[in-house]
Amino acid sequence: MAMRHVVIVGGGITGLSAALEVQSLARQHHLPVRCTLIEKEARLGGKILTIRQDGFLVEAGPDSFLAIKPWATDLCHRLGLGDQLIAQEKQPVYILHRGRLHPLPEEFLMGIVGDLRSLAQSSLFSLLEKARMLFEPFIPLRLDEQDTSVGALIRRRLGQAALDRLAGPLIAGIYAGNPEELSVLAAAPYLVELMRSGPGLLLGALRMQARRKGTRSSPSFLTLAGGLQDLVDRLRASLHDVDIQIGVAARSLKRRSLGYTVELTDGTALDADAVLLTIPAFAAAELLSSLAPHVAEILWTIPYASTATISLAYRREEIQHPLSGSGFLVSREERGAVTACTWVSSKWPGRVPSGAVLLRAYVGEFGREEALNQDDERIVAIVEETLAPLLSIKGRPLFSWITRWHRAMPQYTPGHLSRVARVEEELTHFPGLHIAGAAYRGVGIPDCIHQGQLAAQKVVQELWPNVNIQLPRQADKNGEIFRHKLLQN
Ligand SMILES: Cc1cc2nc3c(=O)[nH]c(=O)nc-3n(C[C@H](O)[C@H](O)[C@H](O)COP(=O)(O)OP(=O)(O)OC[C@H]3O[C@@H](n4cnc5c(N)ncnc54)[C@H](O)[C@@H]3O)c2cc1C
Repeated sequence: MAMRHVVIVGGGITGLSAALEVQSLARQHHLPVRCTLIEKEARLGGKILTIRQDGFLVEAGPDSFLAIKPWATDLCHRLGLGDQLIAQEKQPVYILHRGRLHPLPEEFLMGIVGDLRSLAQSSLFSLLEKARMLFEPFIPLRLDEQDTSVGALIRRRLGQAALDRLAGPLIAGIYAGNPEELSVLAAAPYLVELMRSGPGLLLGALRMQARRKGTRSSPSFLTLAGGLQDLVDRLRASLHDVDIQIGVAARSLKRRSLGYTVELTDGTALDADAVLLTIPAFAAAELLSSLAPHVAEILWTIPYASTATISLAYRREEIQHPLSGSGFLVSREERGAVTACTWVSSKWPGRVPSGAVLLRAYVGEFGREEALNQDDERIVAIVEETLAPLLSIKGRPLFSWITRWHRAMPQYTPGHLSRVARVEEELTHFPGLHIAGAAYRGVGIPDCIHQGQLAAQKVVQELWPNVNIQLPRQADKNGEIFRHKLLQN
């Protein structure tokens, strides 16, 4: 068999997972493959970045991953990190509404009321607002084959208050986005499941909670004791057969008679039989603009939000609030710059020196990014001004860490899945050229890992059609049409 060269562009979790999959398949099936991974920055990991300083462990990007999606957990086990996995203990989450922190009942955690007694007791809603939610089963289910926004769906079915104080903050927290502009099908498919099982959101959530009662609940979120950077470092250490080039970017992509030429910013070029782009959509659009302008055009339409994480360390005695919980999200009615705050030292014990507390705030989301134009000192001051009255903080922080994530979070706007399906369709005219990553079919770490693995499997299958790889069923071309049909808004 002839030697084949696979080039992976992007050294985030998607690219690294893809590289590991190529390496594993090549070893398993004795394939003559050369694999090169190109990363623009001087470090690997992309959005995953752990800072360790003075006894503090600070996650500048993601801090955990969803346990229910198996791909991140499986990868940790595969890399020998299984014993480092730690689960988040069940703790209250709060919603900041009209200057007060209101506990969010556990049964509300999917953003829909899942328990009527908890609703009756909740201080988050007025009687009228509660009655509005309870009215939902009487709102006719409308057969709607179009994707819609999370905002439109929740407002119509449960009312504005449920959107502003429950579903909105939760979905906005994941995407740094505006629920009015996030697709139900792509960003919140669980709502479709609830609609189907209800029928309707309220009945669906109540039924789901009832099913859960009495069963032993498993942890929702997991992380690594030493920080998520350990996953990146372990991946890198495992990629013995992959040539990793950091600090150099792919600049352009050209077609050869067979395969592609990837031109790099250091003036060199790589001839590749297959190319896998695991970079943000706008960066992929740039590379594809002359090779595949139709694809580039669609990729340009995927908008991105910028955000920043601001971690502040305090002496414990300077904060009067008990901090018994994992933090708070902010109601959509509050218009401050801080969109959420994690009480890191309560959520993940062991990440601060004794006697210290670590808080991490988010600033900036899609369409509300002005605060990010301020200098670091001012942003820290904005966060302090927000947190001090809420948590009764007396002193100034001992340390602060601020990480700006410019154009970091892809926004899955309505119609996203259909657009991604069109891109995938267009790319079938370019054998060996694939895309994967946060921009397309899931922003969370498990989804990115899964996309990287699937794309690597497709690449290998294409290069060696006789190799028997069990490829999972292709996602429905039209953005999961069966879901559209069931989405009764
Ligand atoms: C602040 C924040 C908090 C988050 N919290 C969570 C969380 O708690 N849990 C969770 O599951 N997810 C979370 N996410 C989302 C998740 O971290 C990301 O979606 C995921 O890490 C993206 O991985 P990726 O490999 O697809 O992309 P990236 O991490 O963006 O990696 C792409 C890489 O490509 C490189 N690159 C770009 N252009 C080029 C080029 N031309 N040539 C070569 N290289 C290039 C970039 O430098 C980058 O390293 C969070 C994201 C952010 C920003």
